Amino acid sequence: MIVLGVESSCDETGLALYDTQRGLLAHALHSQVAMHEQYGGVVPELASRDHIRRAIPLLEQVMDKAGVTRDTIDAIAYTQGPGLAGALLVGASIACGLGLSMDKPVLGVHHLEGHLLSPLLAGERPEFPFIALLISGGHTQLMQVDGVGQYTLLGETLDDAAGEAFDKSAKLLGLGYPGGPAISRLAEFGDSDVHKLPRPMLHSKDLNFSFSGLKTAVLTLVRNQSTNICEQDKAHIARAFVDAIVEVLVAKCLAALKQTGLKRLVIAGGVGANRQLRDALNAAAQKKRFRVFYPELEFCTDNGAMIAFAGAMRLQINPDAAKRDYAFNVRPRWPLDELRVI
Ligand code: ATP
Ligand code: MG
Ligand code: FE
Repeated sequence: MIVLGVESSCDETGLALYDTQRGLLAHALHSQVAMHEQYGGVVPELASRDHIRRAIPLLEQVMDKAGVTRDTIDAIAYTQGPGLAGALLVGASIACGLGLSMDKPVLGVHHLEGHLLSPLLAGERPEFPFIALLISGGHTQLMQVDGVGQYTLLGETLDDAAGEAFDKSAKLLGLGYPGGPAISRLAEFGDSDVHKLPRPMLHSKDLNFSFSGLKTAVLTLVRNQSTNICEQDKAHIARAFVDAIVEVLVAKCLAALKQTGLKRLVIAGGVGANRQLRDALNAAAQKKRFRVFYPELEFCTDNGAMIAFAGAMRLQINPDAAKRDYAFNVRPRWPLDELRVI
């Protein structure tokens, strides 16, 4: 079965073709980061317009790369939510328009399910059940995953998402948007002993997170520096920030594994690309004897491959999940635990 995936929930247009027999056939992505950078964040109206411009050329690209014709596609999966309403509408209308014109069934996919299952696109697949830490620009959640569509929320952030904390702290350090990768690189030049930031909710005895205080602590440190703060000062602050957030994320993962007795941990979402976090999790996995799985770096942030894949997984369980019903309806807000087993 070949599934075309369409992702357009935020500022990346992603198209991909996944074959349940042969694996990922091709994927193509256009990131709007350069366009939004000057505004310091995503401008929804510009995002929607750019998805319109990019989607069809990217579709042609993946069809060419995969060497498949339109009639060999079995179904089209598109991101139905959560995300920016206008951006989602573009992907949904393109997917449904294609479905109608090609007489193929369509399937709305939950964006976070895409992230959550993206580590299964990598060479070595974790078996169910596992603990998943979803750390993206808009979400921070710990979940028990018993199978496709079987997600139990164990804990989540009470305020900012991890990626948001990275981006906002990076902005305070003048590192541009999105700042996650930049603050991580800068932290490599900083010294852990210079500043100590709080570890929010480290001892809260639940699996929730809170990161907005961390950003405020970074702001206080920045304000306490002289007006012409030098690169080395910034690196020390970046280091303190990364140390604090990584310690909390690792500790909560360990607590979730302990609470459930599971031995497999899956990391998903953009912050999963973070080097310091991966190093700390790998060290913990060795010490505490559990296994940790990551998506390929290119599939940590938004992409079409994870949507094609999540769609294919659902269709393997229930082939009727895709319908020749082209009256689409996007869901900008859509809690993941509302998804049911098919
Ligand atoms: P959501 O999926 O919750 O709707 P999103 O799609 O915007 O949000 P992703 O694309 O999964 O989120 O991830 C983007 C986030 O990941 C940004 O906040 C970005 O700064 C962060 N990020 C990407 N690479 C790194 C890195 N190496 N270190 C830290 N953060 C990173
Ligand atoms: Mg993005
Ligand atoms: Fe995302």
